[in-house]
Amino acid sequence: MNRRTAARFALAASLFLSLSTWPFGQTAGPSKTRAKIDREKQLVLDWLSRPEVVEKFGRVSDAIWSYAELGLQEFNSSKLLADTLEAGGFRVERGVAGMPTAFVASFGSGKPVIGLLGEFDALPMLSQKGRVPAQDPLVPGAPGHGCGHNAMCTAAAAAALAVKEAMVAHKLPGTVKVFGSPAEEIVASRPHMIRAGLFADVDAVIDNHSGSGFGTGYGRGGNALFSVIFTFKGRTAHGAAAWGGRSALDAVEIMNVATNYLREHLPVNMRMHYVVLEGGEAPNVVPDKASVWYYVRQSDEQVEGMYERVLNCAKGAALATGTELLPVRFIAAVHQQHSNKAAAELIQKNIELVGMPAWTEEEQAFAKALQKELKAREEGMPAKVDPLRESRSEGIGGGSSDVGDVTLVAPTATIRFPGQVPGAVGHHWSSVACNFGSTTWKGLNAGAKAIAASAVDLLAKPEELKKLRAEFEDYAKKFPYKSFLPADALPPLDINEELMKKYRPLMEKAAAQIR
Ligand SMILES: [Zn+2]
Repeated sequence: MNRRTAARFALAASLFLSLSTWPFGQTAGPSKTRAKIDREKQLVLDWLSRPEVVEKFGRVSDAIWSYAELGLQEFNSSKLLADTLEAGGFRVERGVAGMPTAFVASFGSGKPVIGLLGEFDALPMLSQKGRVPAQDPLVPGAPGHGCGHNAMCTAAAAAALAVKEAMVAHKLPGTVKVFGSPAEEIVASRPHMIRAGLFADVDAVIDNHSGSGFGTGYGRGGNALFSVIFTFKGRTAHGAAAWGGRSALDAVEIMNVATNYLREHLPVNMRMHYVVLEGGEAPNVVPDKASVWYYVRQSDEQVEGMYERVLNCAKGAALATGTELLPVRFIAAVHQQHSNKAAAELIQKNIELVGMPAWTEEEQAFAKALQKELKAREEGMPAKVDPLRESRSEGIGGGSSDVGDVTLVAPTATIRFPGQVPGAVGHHWSSVACNFGSTTWKGLNAGAKAIAASAVDLLAKPEELKKLRAEFEDYAKKFPYKSFLPADALPPLDINEELMKKYRPLMEKAAAQIR
């Protein structure tokens, strides 16, 4: 065997040693829950513990990491995942809800229908070499997986294939569906998938997200988000005789000044950020077109009012500069996350059963080197799973996800699975560095086990599903779902086209060199 094969073998062997003795090789999990595990659940855990299964999905994750495809351009990532599920016996519908990279993969028939969510898009500007603990881009300026989405639909696919094994072996009733969800980083796919009716028959949803800890939570969290592009149209002129022109860039600048003054008079939980997309190409030509992309974040109740105030800043800027504000383009608009408590409680038991993976000395050394580089606490990889968390972020800011909309149409909770280094920064090269290789392989495998075990519980135990449904139906009366998206908004298929056209060939070349 050559060096590469030897390294692979060593990794597979170490994974085999740490996983094959499950659950005794794990560090967490109260012993009383180990005593009796239902046979369906034992089957999914055993299936996912097979070294060849760990390796297969580890490779899928690493491949998606190397594709690093931005939202709605995830052609290779989506195909790899859909093909993997199809080869495993799932019926796959590709290109759903008007998005070529969205898919739904189903197995089984009838009720209950358990949905698993899975994301696979990357972030711009974060390119980084895998498992190198200092900033070192693979392709300078190119995208990278700085949020671990390479491991996420991968974990859902691994879990779904394990659940299929249990459904066949133990004749479990119902359907399991994987929702291959593009463009989470621009929160763009789920509202369209809901609008297309894809969640209409789903009884419960298990979502997942990669991180450094292993846990779940419930309650309302994160922020609602309006993601919109404001474009101004002016009149061009010679830069040295600009009195004949009306600068669209001036309008963008005045709008940004106005929104930055607006901040003073907004609740502290309001978050607003922007990037200038177009602002002219040379100082000696007055730009007749300029645009700025805003994220406006607030609670579900306040986000619409907040957006109106930002829109007024745009209108004021147009008036002040004698330019025209073109129709605002909605990239996305999503709700906060409203996670189901009964779902989180069920998931928590399975997280405790699976336990935190055992990390090797090499993995601990890498984690500490990265933590040192980031001036974070040099604590290495985590040893224990997290306790069940009630969300405290209601009304105090935080990120956003289009999973929020799903939580309002079906009882949903999110499994956070490990693999990343504690202290690594999200949406940053340090996360890209640790979303590749052995810790990600183990983390997504642990996540897949928790997802599969929870899905099997919901398929095999109607009384468990009833708890989730009762809570959800009650909640839905207080928070009936209505999309924030305008009726005519379409998925922004073109938003990342140019960047991917520029970087895809360079990234393919770089990936071929490290292979
Ligand atoms: Zn993410």
